[in-house]
Amino acid sequence: MENVKCNRCGKAYAIRSMSQDLSGKGLVCEECFQIINKVRADADRLIERKIMNVEKSTGDKRSAEHARLQREGREYMCRNCNYKFFTTLQVKRCPYCSDENRLTSMNDLVKEIDDIIRSR
Ligand SMILES: [Zn+2]
Ligand SMILES: [Zn+2]
Repeated sequence: MENVKCNRCGKAYAIRSMSQDLSGKGLVCEECFQIINKVRADADRLIERKIMNVEKSTGDKRSAEHARLQREGREYMCRNCNYKFFTTLQVKRCPYCSDENRLTSMNDLVKEIDDIIRSR
């Protein structure tokens, strides 16, 4: 019976009881294979949780910023290219097409649209 050394613990086992190391570098014994699998699964879960947390926190921040700017009435729309954007700065030029004096604050636009609807 040919015995091979486990890539992880270095103990020799019968080759048929060995599994391919997930890193692809060699063979590991049954015991080590279970340990590696568990560690990897835990790591995957941990990474997943971290990504979810990051997405959640950036999402919250973005919507909070969005809500704040909306409250301040600083959403603009360019009448030339229909580009919509938020800013807290006083802007005259569209950041997308750089057309001048074609920007309308969304609040004004909503009012305008309301007036048009009402006058019909
Ligand atoms: Zn081992
Ligand atoms: Zn524009």
